[in-house]
Amino acid sequence: MREILLVRFGEIHLKGLNRPYFMRMLVERVKNAVKEVKGHVWLNDGRVFVSDMTDIDEALRRVTKVFGVHSVCKAVEMEKDDFEGICAEGLRLLEGHTGTFKVNARRSDKRYPMDSPTINIEMGGYILQRRPELKVDVKKPELTLSVEIRDKAYLYTKPVMAVGGMPVGTGGRATLLLSGGIDSPVAGWMIAKRGVSMSAVHFHSFPYTSDRAKEKVLDLARILSESLCGIRVHVVPFTEIQMQIHEKCHEDYTTIIMRRYMMRIANAIARKERALGLVTGESIGQVASQTMYALTCTDEVVDMPVYRPLIGFDKQEIIDIAEKIGTMETSSLPFEDCCTVFTPRHPATKPKMEIILEGEAKLDSEALIQAALDNTEIYEL
Ligand code: ATP
Ligand code: MG
Repeated sequence: MREILLVRFGEIHLKGLNRPYFMRMLVERVKNAVKEVKGHVWLNDGRVFVSDMTDIDEALRRVTKVFGVHSVCKAVEMEKDDFEGICAEGLRLLEGHTGTFKVNARRSDKRYPMDSPTINIEMGGYILQRRPELKVDVKKPELTLSVEIRDKAYLYTKPVMAVGGMPVGTGGRATLLLSGGIDSPVAGWMIAKRGVSMSAVHFHSFPYTSDRAKEKVLDLARILSESLCGIRVHVVPFTEIQMQIHEKCHEDYTTIIMRRYMMRIANAIARKERALGLVTGESIGQVASQTMYALTCTDEVVDMPVYRPLIGFDKQEIIDIAEKIGTMETSSLPFEDCCTVFTPRHPATKPKMEIILEGEAKLDSEALIQAALDNTEIYEL
């Protein structure tokens, strides 16, 4: 008898012929998650199991963050032939519980001498005999004692909900524009949740933005990397471009033009990495550069889809997710972002393309972009 983790997956159930591929990817991701606690991971009969880890609670915490995992249970694994022993263990798992319960048996091993309803009745009876104050409620029990009969018997009571989604790497690759704010880490997390592996681009305007501002972004990337299975961060020097925009372009247009340069550079990095799209944390109307008029101007410079998973979210809804995924605290640290360095007093909310193009024509765009790309630093987290 030993304690293991029983991992249940979500939407992979829907995958027809591709299911073995998705399962293999999920096993790889779970293996990666428990590497540091030395867990042994295996797939058996449509479930992923983890055993022999140095710290089961830490392993559980890590596995609940793996995209593709629906829930994780700490389960007792035992020999299935000793039914009396299984009942005794079930009784032990109910220790301290008061109120209603039910036994929920699942027999994958069809040669097992008892079918599921019989196990439910026998085990329920065994428990009630010894704990007569408990009551069975089959419809809405306060506690469900699950028993799975497979190659072994597995017993558990409290599944811990995990993040859901699809295993990272099954959905292609995207490039996230990662600022130090609240929104972009959430946006990256949401797209990665659908199985997309992610690299990030951060624009840094040293000395207007400090090294601590850069560290903050790398810290955010580190938090994300736990679910994203690692992330490469490109830190692009953006000062020169910002200075030139500031000097040469119409003040009300500096933000939108800056956004267009960010998109061009991110697009070039994404192409080099064979990414299939860009991801940003924009939501309609949140700031001047996120009106539908402005977003049209931003999209005009890229040649791949821009995914904006927060497009219809209110700030509070985004904050709620940031809290849940653990980025909120770091995002709230008060370091400057390059967007806040040269903020116009009256940013254009309905920017005109002629004015944008007129401004950009005064810049040697190709050389500026090339210099920024040539001086980009790369961090593998
Ligand atoms: P966030 O909370 O993500 O910073 P925001 O509300 O501050 O968003 P903006 O500053 O207008 O919005 O930026 C919009 C999007 O542009 C961000 O969500 C992010 O994807 C990208 N972005 C902004 N600043 C940077 C930066 N310094 N480096 C990389 N991407 C950035
Ligand atoms: Mg920002």
